[in-house]
Amino acid sequence: MYATTLRCVFCGAEYPLTHRGSCTCCARPGEESALHETLAVKYGMATLKRQLDREELARRPAGLWRYRELLPVVDPAFRIELGAGGTRLVPLTRIAEAVEGHRLLMKVEGSNPTGPFKDRPIGVATSVALEQGARGLACLTSGNIGSAMAAVAAKAGVPALVLLLGAAGLADQGAAVNVEKYVQISAYGATVLTPIGNLGHLYALADRMEAEMGWAFLHNVQAYQTDGDKTTAFEICEQLGWQAPAAVFVPTGTGTNLFGLWQGFVLFKELGFIDTLPRMFAVQPLGAASLVAAWEAHQAVPSVLERIEPNLAPPISHRVSGYHAYKALQESDGGAVAVTDGEILTAMKDLASSEGIYSETASASALAGIRRALATGLLDAEESRRASIVGILTSHGLKNTLALAGVFPSPPKVEGIWEVLQTFLELN
Ligand SMILES: [Zn+2]
Repeated sequence: MYATTLRCVFCGAEYPLTHRGSCTCCARPGEESALHETLAVKYGMATLKRQLDREELARRPAGLWRYRELLPVVDPAFRIELGAGGTRLVPLTRIAEAVEGHRLLMKVEGSNPTGPFKDRPIGVATSVALEQGARGLACLTSGNIGSAMAAVAAKAGVPALVLLLGAAGLADQGAAVNVEKYVQISAYGATVLTPIGNLGHLYALADRMEAEMGWAFLHNVQAYQTDGDKTTAFEICEQLGWQAPAAVFVPTGTGTNLFGLWQGFVLFKELGFIDTLPRMFAVQPLGAASLVAAWEAHQAVPSVLERIEPNLAPPISHRVSGYHAYKALQESDGGAVAVTDGEILTAMKDLASSEGIYSETASASALAGIRRALATGLLDAEESRRASIVGILTSHGLKNTLALAGVFPSPPKVEGIWEVLQTFLELN
């Protein structure tokens, strides 16, 4: 085991690997704040440097556990294998920016087993929870965490409970529950309930269930979720020939994925596997952009938004992003951009119709963010022609088909004869 401790990236407090929940110095249970996800897994770097080299890594099969020394699970029996990770890094060739010579690549996370990147963080966090003795797995989620967790529970043969909240986890704001998501979670055999009550109350219930039944709630092993997100960065570096890209654009809600990616790049650099680090950029939907607001105000601890404006990217519409994400932007000399529904929708359609990649709208904000950064000069046009710019397409488009039903009109009914079909093709 190379993982040594959990350390708070805000106050520096250290905890044993068996610690549950947030940093007790920084976060109050049940209270929304930017300091709830500040714990990160630390590794014994001296030993790792001696025992791990990139040639050995390169010989292993693709996927999460290719990087097993850099993940906190000891016993191979607990490395649940569903085929997470090993996703493609696709160079864009047909959208306007690509034709103009910008080197844009998309990490297509929608090809993970349950549809979103969440199979990485949840794959690692559930494995840790089971290795630490959890008798069942549970989570509070608006969807993607629930399906990733339910799939692992099915494969591991343990019971699963999903407390399914409305979009963006707004239990107390009456947001609608996503139909595609609860159907998928139910198919994996998990018990799905839609709880009524505010989040603070639900977190207290979760703690009671952990104490009395020995189940693990995934928000209490948050640090291990972030740790699983590192593997996306590892793969990107390998796919670019052991190099980091110049910049990475990440659709950002709470910011754990962005921070996890950053930790991955930093770890690879510390190991001497890459020479440079990328600039990290957060992309948020206008109206749910607490990190963008914090970034523009130079305020390291983002404030909680009073309300979220409805938008096309519910998976990244949270009332507050974490300090850890701000820290990643700051350390990497990156930035944060907000994008409109129109920009997100255009990006989603362009990726699908010009590149053959159907991504969730929230995911497509990665491309919308790159465009916004190029337009505002945040991303230098020459730099993006010279060096690789990577967008993280976090989830598959099939995850939010119903929400887009109004965007594409129903196909017209026509007579199935040659002349009619020909007329339609000529019109298009
Ligand atoms: Zn702390």
